[in-house]
Formats: sequence, C-alpha cells, structure tokens
Amino acid sequence: MLTDYHVHLRPDDDGTPASEYFTPANAERYREAASERGIEELGVSEHIHRFVQALDVWTHPWWRKWAHDDIDEYCAFVREQTDLRLGIEADFVPGREDRMATLLDAREWDYVVGSVHFLADEAVDMRGSDWDVWRGGDPEKVWARYFETLGEAARTGMFDILAHPDLVKVWGGGAPVPDGDLRRFYERAMDGIADSDVAIEVSTAGLRKPVKEIYPAAAFLEMCLEAGRPVALSSDAHVPEDLGHRYDRAVEWLGEIGVTEVVVFDGRERRMEPLG
Ligand SMILES: [Zn+2]
Ligand SMILES: [Zn+2]
Repeated sequence: MLTDYHVHLRPDDDGTPASEYFTPANAERYREAASERGIEELGVSEHIHRFVQALDVWTHPWWRKWAHDDIDEYCAFVREQTDLRLGIEADFVPGREDRMATLLDAREWDYVVGSVHFLADEAVDMRGSDWDVWRGGDPEKVWARYFETLGEAARTGMFDILAHPDLVKVWGGGAPVPDGDLRRFYERAMDGIADSDVAIEVSTAGLRKPVKEIYPAAAFLEMCLEAGRPVALSSDAHVPEDLGHRYDRAVEWLGEIGVTEVVVFDGRERRMEPLG
C-alpha cells in the first residue's frame, strides 16, 4: 500500500481562500492524481494556523496574518463532501499543550500530524522573513534546540505522526549547517520519541526543497526504527501534481533501510500495511 496523509488542499500563498479550495471539485483533482500514482490511502492535513480557532492556542503575528478559516467548516467539508481521510497539521507550541489539546480533542480526526516549525517565536523554514531563526542562528544551537523540541513534541502524545522530522535541514547549504556527525543532534530527540507512540513521517517534500533530500536522514530514521517507531509515508503536497512526489525513490530507499510496512489511520486508530 501507498499512503499520502500529509497533504494540503491549497498552496501556502496569499489568495488561496477556503471557498476556492475546499470544494468537491478540488478534492476530486487530488483523488484522481492519487489513483494515477497508485496511492490508495489519501488524506488531507491543513495547516492549523489557517484557522481562526488556532488563535486560541497561540497569537504569533504570523499566525494572526493567516488565521481566516473556520476549522469546523473544514472538518465538515472533508467528512461530508469528500472521501478523503481527515487530518490536520498542528504545530507543537511549548507551553500551550493544554490549549492545543482542547482544540484537537474537540474534533474527530483520522490522524493528527505534529510539526515543529517554530523555536520560540522564530521559524526554521522562513528564510529571509521577520521570523527567520537563521538571521543570527548559530547552527549548533539551532539544531540542538530543534531536536530537543521535536522530542518534546513526540512526548506530548498529542500527535499521531511526526512530520518532516529533520525540517531544520530544509535550506541545505542555504543556511548554516553544523559540522560532523549529525547524530549528536538526533540523540536529543530520541528519548521523547522512544517514550512515545508516534509514527515517523518519511516525506519526499525535502526533495522539492533546497536541501534536495528526503526527510528524515537515514541515520535519524534508523534510530527511530531501533526505538520501535513505525513509519508514515507522505509527500506534503500543496498541489495535486506533487502527490506521491518521487515515491519510487522513497520506497526503494525505505526498502534498503529495511522498512516493509507503513501506518494507516482511521479515527486515530493505527494499523500497519505492507509498503509498496
Ligand atoms: Zn510542515
Ligand atoms: Zn505540511
């Protein structure tokens, strides 16, 4: 089986209102692209910051800029007008776990994708913005903080899938990268991951980014497998054309690492299916 669960129904750009993208016709474009690529299990996971209810959790100025839509209308649309699995991409916001849990637990998701994009008020993936962590970021410190935060995110138990686990590498050589063996950073996430029940996302999105690598690095994934964690496969597509992006490469790579199964979710219940 092939899955694509970390999927957005619209680009992260201005001029992408829910009224134009949360439509049966748009969902059908994704369903058609998925069937062409042999992806049976398809779900959507919109960014939580695009919903007004997210401001009950965190009022970062960048979230305030983007929070326009109603999360319950999104859930009703996916449930009533599509045959897609219903997910959400939710940030881990340290200190706001209770508020995020209140928001998430009030809705009936098939799965919740958990992400670390921000370290305090700064983001690892917004190069050149007002919130760019790399403006003054010492790579040793940023990478250490990133993986510590990722481990905390896993430990909360709020998330079914840990998204793009080494997102901190997104810029490749376009941001400072620490020297040497990066496992010293991965170690900082591993206690939290080992103590959790979270699935580790293998995402081909990194192949479309400056780093041009799958998330996560093989060494990171191997450590998660040793800790007994299962694998989720996604593309983080924001347009139908990117669904299952370069899955041939991902499946081959997973085979080399010894991964034979992927997770499938229904109502936040997880089961394993053979990969491929
Ligand atoms: Zn993300
Ligand atoms: Zn995403």
